[in-house]
Amino acid sequence: MKISVIGTGYVGLVAAAVFADFGNDVLCADIDAGKIESIRAGKLPIFEPGLQPLVEHNVAAGRLRFTTSNAEAARHGDIIFMAVGTPTLGSDGAADLSFLFQAAAEVGRHLERPAIIVDKSTVPVGTAERITRILSEQTKQPFVVVSNPEFLKEGAAVDDFMHPDRIIIGTSDDAARQTLHRLYQPFCRTNDRMIFMDARSAELTKYACNAYLATRISFMNDMANLADSVGADIEMVRRGMGSDPRIGPKFLFPGVGYGGSCFPKDIRAILTTAREYGHTLEIVASAERINEAQKLVLVRKLRKHFDNDIAGKTFGVWGLAFKPNTDDIREAPALKIIRTLVADGAKIKMHDPEAGPNFLAALGDSVAPSCTLVDDPYEAAEGAHALLLVTEWREYRSPDFERLRRTMARPSLFDGRNQWDRALLEGLGFFYSGIGR
Ligand code: NAD
Repeated sequence: MKISVIGTGYVGLVAAAVFADFGNDVLCADIDAGKIESIRAGKLPIFEPGLQPLVEHNVAAGRLRFTTSNAEAARHGDIIFMAVGTPTLGSDGAADLSFLFQAAAEVGRHLERPAIIVDKSTVPVGTAERITRILSEQTKQPFVVVSNPEFLKEGAAVDDFMHPDRIIIGTSDDAARQTLHRLYQPFCRTNDRMIFMDARSAELTKYACNAYLATRISFMNDMANLADSVGADIEMVRRGMGSDPRIGPKFLFPGVGYGGSCFPKDIRAILTTAREYGHTLEIVASAERINEAQKLVLVRKLRKHFDNDIAGKTFGVWGLAFKPNTDDIREAPALKIIRTLVADGAKIKMHDPEAGPNFLAALGDSVAPSCTLVDDPYEAAEGAHALLLVTEWREYRSPDFERLRRTMARPSLFDGRNQWDRALLEGLGFFYSGIGR
């Protein structure tokens, strides 16, 4: 099939590469000329496991091409996917749809034959109808707008896109349903995982999923803080809870709070939508509040451990990305942790396998001079009064603790992801503090 994808971010580039890999003829557009130039030169603007070889292979096979022209994308695809960003707009938390509407208008202006316009971006209920109005103002060609929210996880995006748990297709147009069924059929060889519904339900499904997942994290963080107070071990509680099939073991991990490019903005957007319709989503609102507080849980523990005497101390930080296997630092807990510690007068030595440069650029001029980004994780711990594990990259799971103890100014470990064994570390002479244990 002839497919266009608008946007070369985590969703657009992955979707384009995977559709091409399944034999489709794909043209991928982005208004950011730097990104397109860099992709054409063989350097992807994002890190995502398995993506680089997939792009290279399909470009070489002639099935995947890139352009800076949305007009060209409008002319190429029988199906045109919109995968542009929908960040938070302003202080009320609403989603900024301007990138999407701008792309829709451009596509509308240049349509030369009937097309299916598929919205993959996460958007408030009613957006498919708004895109339909924008397109109608620009074109006389017949078209249908379909909502097809994306559920891939950064860090496993290629695999998730190739093997989706479900594919939600929101449209009441029969022909569009059949075309998208044909497109996605090869992704569902074992069993049909397509769920058809109306566009509004599809749009809400995406927010409901993210709100539920964020709530699950905040629930566990709330419980973990109680476990700290009552002297229970949240890791045992978690295993006990997760063994109930109604609860399940996945996504039940306490930590330093969620971040990333999706949960925080999507939670804000669904709360705003609810307000617009006269509802208060009490549970989701609490999940957001708990999360903001949880991002500073390690700072509170450090202040307590050092009797509020943080100024002049050096802290090592392992992990800056909002989660492992990505270079994405948007709303990463590490940003808030490090900014707060620097405001307390601390110096930071930090390491991340992929996200270092993005993180340094995001820190801000007033904070960055107090932070040193290092290439070797052990260097981050050298001379440190404490080491904070913020993002659980695999390489941090079994470090050489003896080496750490020898080089740290004080052997204290603050494990924000409950990755390490307290008994082992206390046996080695460390002070150890986890989350809820
Ligand atoms: P991103 O910010 O990484 O990429 C968006 C891209 O769109 C950028 O490269 C930008 O230059 C481009 N763009 C903006 N306006 C454009 C226009 N008018 N024409 C062409 N290109 C334009 O975003 P992302 O993380 O890929 O997310 C895209 C959407 O998918 C968002 O709505 C997001 O909520 C949703 N989503 C993201 C994820 C994820 O894990 N990142 C998962 C599911 C859904």
